[in-house]
Amino acid sequence: MSQYDVIIIGAGPGGYVSAVRCAQLGLKTAIVEGRETLGGTCLNVGCIPSKALLHATHMLHEAEHNFAGMGLKAKAPTVDWAQMKSYKDDVVSQNTGGVEFLMKKNKIDWLKGWATIPAAGKVTVGDTTYDTKNIVIASGSVPSTLPGVEVDNDKGVVVDSTGALVLGKVPKKMVVIGAGVIGLELGSVYQRLGAEVTVVEYMDAVCPGMDKDVQRTFKRILEKQGLKFIMGAAVQGVDATKTKAKVKYQPKKGGDEEVLDADVVLVATGRKPYAEGLGLDALGVKMTERGQIAVDGHWATSVKGIYAIGDVIEGPMLAHKAEDEGMAVADVLAGNHGHVNYGVIPGVVYTTPEVATVGQTEDALKAAGHKIKVGKFSFMGNARAKAIGQADGFVKIIADKETDRVLGAAIIGPAAGDMIHEICVAMEFGASAQDIALTCHAHPTYSEAVREAALACGDGPIHA
Ligand SMILES: Cc1cc2nc3c(=O)[nH]c(=O)nc-3n(C[C@H](O)[C@H](O)[C@H](O)COP(=O)(O)OP(=O)(O)OC[C@H]3O[C@@H](n4cnc5c(N)ncnc54)[C@H](O)[C@@H]3O)c2cc1C
Repeated sequence: MSQYDVIIIGAGPGGYVSAVRCAQLGLKTAIVEGRETLGGTCLNVGCIPSKALLHATHMLHEAEHNFAGMGLKAKAPTVDWAQMKSYKDDVVSQNTGGVEFLMKKNKIDWLKGWATIPAAGKVTVGDTTYDTKNIVIASGSVPSTLPGVEVDNDKGVVVDSTGALVLGKVPKKMVVIGAGVIGLELGSVYQRLGAEVTVVEYMDAVCPGMDKDVQRTFKRILEKQGLKFIMGAAVQGVDATKTKAKVKYQPKKGGDEEVLDADVVLVATGRKPYAEGLGLDALGVKMTERGQIAVDGHWATSVKGIYAIGDVIEGPMLAHKAEDEGMAVADVLAGNHGHVNYGVIPGVVYTTPEVATVGQTEDALKAAGHKIKVGKFSFMGNARAKAIGQADGFVKIIADKETDRVLGAAIIGPAAGDMIHEICVAMEFGASAQDIALTCHAHPTYSEAVREAALACGDGPIHA
């Protein structure tokens, strides 16, 4: 008889959420984690520490730039970087400790160490092999590398996102390679701390996949805050000494190779799925061309009894996507119908202002010949955003021209990452833009801008 109904490998947001749901559904569950603490990339070196630093440095920015205008006279704060990092570490340990509590509460065994799968139905951790009916692989992802660029987080000169969270000191000059979410968030952190930050990006726009008007507005706002951008630049390599680095790049438009000096180079060119050491080759688990574990619509791999979820499979590398898959696969294992609506997974950049998107983009729908209407409303017409001095940005709702059904949205503005959920819920319920427009929204709230954008899909907004 199997010791477990399910063993989950990896305790990130995919794995630990799946474990809790499996236990709630009555399955005897264990989770394997090789790190010292639970919570995966997200809690240890991803979402949570980056948001703690974004929060602390946003406070600094407010004190330095906006307090005086609001009549708050004080000396500009000085930065105690060691204390800021310890604040961040404290936030991380509160959260990882919280996951440990959840494991205990739900009677989930934490098998400490790195797992291998010697055969379907077996998981080895250290010297012990456990029998299990099913295995869920939630082994996540690691930072991608770039040819000619050697990351060494210990030296702290050429770092990835993990190294950027623990730099020994705030650099004077930082070069960020990659204008994606992680590069822009961490670039913002260091820019606010006083570093001169230059973002070098191969593409011609920030945050690939977003609508062009969103990308343009976002870049303009970040530039106003002090971030510098070099777009259309192919990084050729980085030469590093113990304390400095030179980033060589080739402008795509032609011309000579250029060089940028930096104290720290952050390589933020994306992440790749991680399934090392599990023994998947020997088991015959099929992989995609991009190195992800291939799964069917029920997260089953090509080997019976082995499932996979989260960053290690296809789809956006987001904590909440991993969590949703974790809950859904638990349902599948318990004999229920697990479901994830991949059309309604929000994406958020936690800069100031935040940028949030969901569903399809205006550009993609137009390119596909889909007849749409677009309702856009600037935060300049939103009293609450003006009251906090953050009226730069807009809400855009994209709806089907015939049916008025909401197909997607983008928000650049205060609390965009929270506001986007109104549109997510509307989309889940197949709502029309008019449904949102007819819903009473409290005044004064940022959410009124969502209603105004929905009104803009119909007879027009009021405050524009
Ligand atoms: C700087 C940064 C900021 C981010 N910010 C956000 C954000 O704001 N919002 C968001 O949605 N996403 C964010 N992400 C992405 C998010 O962290 C990931 O999408 C998410 O963690 C994926 O969850 P997961 O469970 O699939 O894998 P992971 O969180 O990567 O967890 C996998 C775990 O499996 C363990 N593991 C792997 N192999 C084994 C093995 N053989 N045995 C035992 N254990 C194993 C690993 O140690 C790891 O702890 C961020 C990422 C980074 C790096």
